[in-house]
Formats: sequence, structure tokens, C-alpha cells
Amino acid sequence: MLLFSVLFAFSSLALAQSDDNAPKTNPPDTNVLLRAVEPGPEGRPTFDAAREEERQRMVERQIEQRGVADEAVLAAMRSVPRHAFVPPDLRDRAYADSPLPIGHGQTISQPYIVGFMTETLQLAPGDRVLEIGTGSGYQAAILGAMGVDVVTIEIIQPLAEQAADLLERLGYDNITAIQGDGYYGYEELAPYDAIIVTAAAQHVPPTLIEQLKPGQRMVIPVGRAGWTQNLLLVTKTDEGQTQTRNLMSVAFVPLTGERNGEQNGER
Ligand code: SAM
Repeated sequence: MLLFSVLFAFSSLALAQSDDNAPKTNPPDTNVLLRAVEPGPEGRPTFDAAREEERQRMVERQIEQRGVADEAVLAAMRSVPRHAFVPPDLRDRAYADSPLPIGHGQTISQPYIVGFMTETLQLAPGDRVLEIGTGSGYQAAILGAMGVDVVTIEIIQPLAEQAADLLERLGYDNITAIQGDGYYGYEELAPYDAIIVTAAAQHVPPTLIEQLKPGQRMVIPVGRAGWTQNLLLVTKTDEGQTQTRNLMSVAFVPLTGERNGEQNGER
């Protein structure tokens, strides 16, 4: 396994560096739609008990029984109303063991994938976490409910606006929601204690490695859209190198935008 990790480290480093040779382009404009006003645990909301039984069952059967054990992650997933993040005509399937369409050709991830990726980040209250791919806002809501500062970026304007509006209405004060190309990260609030990418990149973006604190973790699906991708755990050493481990096979929608080489996901 060690050899595999070392080989992966070089390949991902090479992957990341190969992009360094690409012509530098300035990050496109970003638009802050919601700005955090209360850091960490104080900025998280409380929720009513609507559909609580289905949520408990989802956490118990789909997440705990598959090995996610981080109590902060499980508590957040027991409390955040997932049904608020899916389109009205799909609300009855909000707690099903699957991703769901959220419009514009995008999806809210399967509950288990959200739990597994969140646990892998090994977060502590007060951490600052960057999410690439806000989508419905559900992953951001789970992170915010854990008492971390969340910075989340979504490239598709209507999705970004819808998620920012929902997160504000739910009472989150520890989430900054931005519309823009997350391939470039968000320099203004860097560095980050953790980075989670919820769309499949073709390589590990060097800008995200730059914005990750030394010793910290990024979880990112890498591979071509429509194929099986590798969910990678990228750890940045104190010397700024990256070590990469392949956690599992996944199937995410593509990371779009000019630098990742896929057309924008907007349909
Ligand atoms: N975290 C989301 C949730 O909880 O609903 C999952 C959303 S979906 C799996 C991935 C999202 O990444 C889509 O909304 C897509 O538009 C977005 N995306 C793709 N490329 C992006 C980019 N370069 N920058 C920001 N968002 C991007």
C-alpha cells in the first residue's frame, strides 16, 4: 500500500505540476452572494424536527452502518433538513440512498458520500473549509452545522444564488457563498484547514494545493466525467509537497470552467 501511495504522490504531484506549465490565466470574476458574519460554532442554526424520523433512519442505515463514525458528522447529518435542499417534486425522495437531480444537469450527492467525504477531512470546530461546487448547498450546510467556517463556490449562477438564499433563510451565519470558478479556489479567505471538491477534476488544481494549509487535507474526485473516477485524499506536507491516496471509486459530475477542460455544466 505504501508503494501505491508513494507512486500516487508522484503522479499527482506530476499531475499538479504539469498544469503549472499551462499558460497562467487570471481567475475570472467572483461574486460574493452571502458573507459569514459569525465565525464557527456560534454561526450555526438550529432546525425544527420535520421529517426527523427519516433523517435518523438515513444516518443509521446508510451512513453509520457503512462505517462513518465521526459523531460531529453524524450529528450534523441528523439535524440538517436534506429535504429543504432538493427540488419540491423530489422532496419525498430526499432521504433516499442516492444522489438526486437539482437542475442545470447537476446533482446533490448521495448522503453516504457526503458523510464519508466530510469525515475524511477530520475537521475541528473553528476550522475554515473551502468547498468547490456548492450545488444545492447541502454539503455546505453539513459543514456549517459542524461549527466550521465554510467558504463555498458554485460556477452556475442560478444554483449559486438559490443555495446562498436558502442557507441565509435557514439561519447560517458561518457560511460565505460565492458564484465563480472554484478551480482557482478563493484567495481572499485562504489558507484553508481543509478543501472538499464535489465535482470531478481532470487533475488536482495547483491553486487549491497552494491555498491549503501545510499538513492539511483535500478530498477531490479525479477522472473523466461519465467514467469511474478516483476519490483522492491529498495531504499537503509541511514542506508543501503532496501525498495522495485513492480512497474509492466514485462517479461525480465534471468540474467545469475554462481550466479543467470541460464545458460548463449549464444545460
Ligand atoms: N456539494 C453539492 C451539494 O451538496 O449539492 C454537490 C453539487 S454537484 C455534485 C457539483 C457542483 O459543482 C455542481 O453544482 C456544479 O455546477 C459545480 N461545479 C462544477 N465545476 C465547478 C467549478 N469550476 N467551480 C465551481 N463549481 C463547479
